[in-house]
Amino acid sequence: MIRKTRLFTPGPTPLLPAAQFAMAAADIHHRTAEFRAMYTRVLSQLKDFFGTKNDVLILSSSGTGAMEAAVSNLTSPGDRVLVLTAGKFGERWSGIAKAFGCEVDVVSAPYGHTFSIEEVKAALKLETRAIFMQATETSTGVRHCVPAVAKLIKDTHSEALLVVDAITGLGTTHLDMDAWGVDVLIGGSQKSFMIPPGLSFIALSDKAWDRMEASYNPRYYFDLRKERKNARNGESAYTPAVALIAALGAALDYIAGQAATTDNPAGDLVAGRKKLVENAETIAAMTRAAVQALGMTLFAPDAPSAAATAVLPPVGIDSGVIVKELKARFAAVITNGQGEMKGQIFRIAHLGFFDFMDTIAFIGALEQVVMKSFPQPGVQFGSGLIAAQKVYAERSATAAADNQCLCGRTQACCSLK
Ligand SMILES: *Cc1c(COP(=O)(O)O)cnc(C)c1O
Repeated sequence: MIRKTRLFTPGPTPLLPAAQFAMAAADIHHRTAEFRAMYTRVLSQLKDFFGTKNDVLILSSSGTGAMEAAVSNLTSPGDRVLVLTAGKFGERWSGIAKAFGCEVDVVSAPYGHTFSIEEVKAALKLETRAIFMQATETSTGVRHCVPAVAKLIKDTHSEALLVVDAITGLGTTHLDMDAWGVDVLIGGSQKSFMIPPGLSFIALSDKAWDRMEASYNPRYYFDLRKERKNARNGESAYTPAVALIAALGAALDYIAGQAATTDNPAGDLVAGRKKLVENAETIAAMTRAAVQALGMTLFAPDAPSAAATAVLPPVGIDSGVIVKELKARFAAVITNGQGEMKGQIFRIAHLGFFDFMDTIAFIGALEQVVMKSFPQPGVQFGSGLIAAQKVYAERSATAAADNQCLCGRTQACCSLK
């Protein structure tokens, strides 16, 4: 049989064809009226996608660049900061904060789990200047409760800034930056945005902009004050990734168009973003049901993210075998575990340009791998597909009103609703 290569990886993700065409046509100079019109429009679309009234800035870097910009612009050497970590990306926050001379306190949860808000409360000190966390920890498939941490900062009148890496949280999780009191929200182009790697996004609250003026860690390329000043004139401080920005505009149009009505054929980005989040949640729920029906175990059963599902293969099977077989037989690319989780888990992405068809096809391929290479008692062809089909039918019948917490989790993880 012929094979079509398909990415099921949590970044890069599959590219939207309309974004690829926009990219190929983006032969324009960045100090022109033409570019300024495009940039201004995309920046305003990003505000809707982020759900904020604050400026959203675009940086030419992978997501980590915006993480570093948050640290370099908002901290000074010797600042005490708190990192909430439960995986490789949480650990990255600690690494960056230490590189910029911060005194780092850490609340950590074992891989596959999230921390409790009581632990965070106990670790929050009077002198804590910032809390760094992920909305979703991509290395383990866990969702953290961002609104609970935001509420803690408010309730304790802490001066700490809340800095959230939502690089895989955006487009998979309901995030209400302004209403919750998130100070910094960070995104990356190669995740839910359906375009290639190369751009990062960062939005900051007034409290964060004020802090920036008083912070003195070194920054030059990622000086956000310079970037904001230029952005307000429709330009970027340095040569921007013009083609990626054109692609981003097309992708945001497509997302808005998912909420098109006869009265408003262009759709609406806020409503379209909601559909994108629901899409990821449905695909994630289908996938969780399917892998369990195929005799495997969820790595993050208590607080699963809709960005990616991390799965423990049957006992004795190296997860790399599944990654390899899916690639070799079906050209379906998934990811192994990162770091010490390599060989232990495999991860299937749901963020961005994935639909029902992709999901069903993937589960069908996974069934072929399971049935051929490690058949499980009670598992047959169709076991995973039946479970996924039922989840899809149930979720389409009930208007997905099963969120118990503001963070989108189906069980009440804190008292927030
Ligand atoms: C992908 C990702 C990043 C950024 O990684 P880059 O390779 O720098 O784009 C950061 N945090 C999370 C949670 C991610 O999934």
